[in-house]
Amino acid sequence: MGVSDVSDHTSTAVVGRLTAAADAYAVARRDESRRAVEPSLKLAVVACMDSRIDLFGLLGLDIGEAHVMRNAGGVVTDDVIRSLVVSQRVLGTESIVLVHHTDCGLQKITDDGFKDSLEAEIGIRPPWALEGFKDPFVAVRQSVNRLLHSPFLAHKDNIFPFVYDVDTHRLMPG
Ligand SMILES: [Zn+2]
Repeated sequence: MGVSDVSDHTSTAVVGRLTAAADAYAVARRDESRRAVEPSLKLAVVACMDSRIDLFGLLGLDIGEAHVMRNAGGVVTDDVIRSLVVSQRVLGTESIVLVHHTDCGLQKITDDGFKDSLEAEIGIRPPWALEGFKDPFVAVRQSVNRLLHSPFLAHKDNIFPFVYDVDTHRLMPG
């Protein structure tokens, strides 16, 4: 079984495939000069970690153009705020695009139900919110409101919420 065997999903084989890709990536870009650390579009994108969403392809982004923050749900958590504060105050971004989506894993759980099952299994109830939700349009508005209420952000005038439909591949205003 070589690293090119894409049907082998053992973690060793997967990492072998990744490092082989990284080697080829470095060779293909060996003549590219270093880009500025500041995103050229002055843009930060907060999105769900869902493996079906190709943010660069969907939004037509190129390397060096935007910061991308991803987590379960694309939720605006304290750590997302931390990254956005660095993004805006250190690295000059001014706009925020939020991308939630249909068929999200977080629509399959409720906070209380998931915490109950965790506590039953391991005896500890997590201190953080799971941020489960039913409607991605409601959830993305919740994220907008958290941004608007953060005292730390420098720029809140250009916040754009969207919901991506994983079936039609359409990006809808949120
Ligand atoms: Zn999701």
